[in-house]
This record gives sequence, structure tokens and C-alpha cells, in this order.
Amino acid sequence: MGAASKNVIVATHNAHKAVELGELLEIPGWKLLPLSACGLDELPPETASTFEGNARIKARGAFAASGHAVLADDSGLLVDALGGAPGVHSARYANEQASDAANVKKLLAELEGVPADKRGARFVCTMVFIDEDGTELVATGSLEGHIAAAPRGAGGFGYDPVFVPQAEHDGRTLAEYEPAEKNALSHRACAAVDLRRQLEAAARVPSRAQAPAAEAATSNEAAPAAAKTRIVAFDFDGTLIDAASPVRLVNRLARNHIMPMKAVARIGLWGMRYKMGAELDQSLPRRYIFSSFKQFSASDANSIMTNLYNEEIRSYYRPDALRRIKRHRAEGCTIVVVSASFEPIVSAAVKDIGADGFIATKMEVVDGHYTGHTLCEPPEGEQKLFQLTSYADECFGEGNWELDWAYGDHFSDAPLMEAARHAVAVDPDRRLERIAHANGWEIVKWEL
Ligand code: IMP
Repeated sequence: MGAASKNVIVATHNAHKAVELGELLEIPGWKLLPLSACGLDELPPETASTFEGNARIKARGAFAASGHAVLADDSGLLVDALGGAPGVHSARYANEQASDAANVKKLLAELEGVPADKRGARFVCTMVFIDEDGTELVATGSLEGHIAAAPRGAGGFGYDPVFVPQAEHDGRTLAEYEPAEKNALSHRACAAVDLRRQLEAAARVPSRAQAPAAEAATSNEAAPAAAKTRIVAFDFDGTLIDAASPVRLVNRLARNHIMPMKAVARIGLWGMRYKMGAELDQSLPRRYIFSSFKQFSASDANSIMTNLYNEEIRSYYRPDALRRIKRHRAEGCTIVVVSASFEPIVSAAVKDIGADGFIATKMEVVDGHYTGHTLCEPPEGEQKLFQLTSYADECFGEGNWELDWAYGDHFSDAPLMEAARHAVAVDPDRRLERIAHANGWEIVKWEL
């Protein structure tokens, strides 16, 4: 006998929304069915003045007619310059039977003459889930952006051709996004994440960590493939922060007369050539830094590095990078910082930004002092990928994870980025920019 599957009716007549919901809520054991499956042609009229009220009307109508679990969502666009219109009337903005094109036309007409900086808007989504036993859960999500001057793009539906999400800064409208890209950040995606979290907390669906065991326990057949852990890897220096933490460390050691000026000058030159993309001996700054640390105990040297992080480095985060972390976390991804910088700095960063793990350069300590040797190969170039692979195999099991996204700024990040499903070159050096163009990777210029 197979694992019991649960029918969940999707209470919408909007085929686009049904497809998006199906992609967003891939819950093991759930079978999402269209309204027609419960013989319901009509949903009760959406007479409420709030998204939640209308989502409840749709969900309760479908629940009463089917007796199955149901999922309904109500969504819409709120435009600041129009006092929140079209809001709950988004689907019927131009008239009762309005097409998407007619709604967009009316919206642009209403915004005629409104300057770009006053065209702020957001999509919102409220989902109501009613389980077989009548328990109701409400989940919400939103997506900030602005309304473009004219429609662009052929994807998506509704107001997508005139909605430019704020997080990306590349000016594309949602209709110019790939479906998977939209599903990674949309208001509906955020609401789906919220709903899934509530379902897991209420033990109404297996938590993702327990899913394989739960499936195996109820089925003798081959269990459906468990969702893999989706890893998002971020390089640190130059990617998450608009600075190079080893350079900051050298400056601090120089200011405090811990490192000789000659060594500082050599490293300065090295840093300039590194930034320009030259192929260099990456061990040079490390050797000078840890020679300077020999006069301290390892724990004092660690304090110098964590103080540097807290007092200086943490002010260099790129806000867009932090937004991406938030977004990937909301999608349920695991965030790993992969950096050649030193363990005490990267470990402080990971705690600070709430990442899940890290890979960094570990230095050897003997008798409570740094020896100046690395414990293993520093995670640079190919090593970033090798070490991330070993880390993930150990944490999640071989074959149970995938590298979904990788972010880097330097050409030495390319091997890691090539292994990811999506790669993002952040303010890249020339060589990485060329590689990114050749591979069709996203290139972003994230300001501080
Ligand atoms: P609902 O079926 O009452 O939730 O209507 C929502 C309306 O809001 C849709 O018909 C669209 O006009 C608009 N809308 C909601 N979500 C989106 C979206 O993801 N993209 C574009 N328009 C949307």
C-alpha cells in the first residue's frame, strides 16, 4: 500500500495563481486539486473589505462544498500614491470583468504625472488554509516595489508587467522574471513559507528535517524523493561586505604597532594587485599577520580579530546582501558563508547575521599560540567548492543537498559559482565579470 495522500482543494479560478501555488507548496503527501474536483463552479462573492476576509470566504465556501482540506489566497496590489488602491479590488479595478491589460491601463492612467520616486507599491497575499478537521490557519506575505512608467515583459499575470520589485535593483518588471525567480521572492512565496512554517509548528505536515523518516514509516513503496537541503553560499570579503577583512586586520595591527611597517607596505601592494585580478600567492598576508600574532596567546589574538569584527567590519555589510540572506532564509534555504578570511572573524560574522554555517581559514595552534601554519588548505579557488562539498556531505549526507545559489566577487570564486544552480557576481572584478557574462550569470552592483 502506498503512503496516504491528502487532497487539498485550491480555491481559486485563477489558473496562474493555481500553478504558482502548486509550485510553492510542494508538501510531501499533499495532492493539490482544482476547484472542479469538488464539483464547485462558483465561489461565494468576495464581499469583505480585507484580503483575509475574502480569502476566508473562498476557503470556507470550498470547505463546505468539499469536506476536503482547502487552501485559498487573496492577493492584490497597493499603490501608495493611490491611497492603497486598487487593494482588494485589484482583479476588478477597471470594471467587473476587467482583463489584466485593462487593469494595467487604468493603473497607469491614474498614475499619469506621478514622479518615479512617488510610485511605491506592494503586492500582498493572505492565505487561508482549512484542514480536514476545520482548523483554520492564516498566513501572509508581501513584496515591495514600484510601478514602472510603461508595461514591460511577457511573463506572469495581472500587474506583473508594471511592477518592479525593489530588492533587485536591476529595473526588471516581474513580467521579465523567470517563473522560478518570481516564485523565490513573491508575496505568494512569502505567504507559502509562512503557512508551511505554521503547518510544521502545528505538526500538520512533517517538518522538512523529519520528512524522509516520516515517509519511510508510512510507505513500503519507494518513498518520494525527500526535499534536498538547498544551500546558498556567500563569499564574505567583497561580497557580503564592501571591504576585505584581512586588509582591515592588517591596518589595525599596523595602527597598534603590532605589525612592522615594512610588512604593512608589502601587504598593501599585494592587496592592490589582488583587487585588480592578478594571480597571486594568497598566503602572503596570512604569513605576515600570524607572524605578528606569535607575541600573543591564541585567545588574545582571537579577541583582536573578534573586536575588529564588532568595531569595524560589521559596518561594511552591503544592505542588498543582507536582504538576499533574508529572502533565501524565507525560502527555507541553508546559508553558508565560504571565506578565506580567518575563522574568528567569519565565525563572529555568521553569528551576527544568523547564517547556518561557515567555512574559513583555520590556523594551527600549538601550546596556546598560533604557529603561522594553516590547519588545512585555506578555502580559496577550487578549495571553496571542495570544502563546501565535504561540509555539506557531513552535515546533510551525500546526495541530500544541492548548491542552489552562490555569490562571489572575485574570479577565484568562479569554481564555487559554476557548481551552483544560480550564480550571482557581486560588483565583480574584470575576470569574474567576463566569466559571468559567458555563463549568463546575474551581475549586480550592490552599493554600501
Ligand atoms: P484575487 O483573485 O482576488 O486574489 O485577485 C488578485 C488580483 O491581484 C489579480 O487578479 C491581479 O490583478 C492582482 N495580483 C495578485 N497577485 C499578483 C501577482 O503575483 N502578479 C500580478 N498581479 C497580481
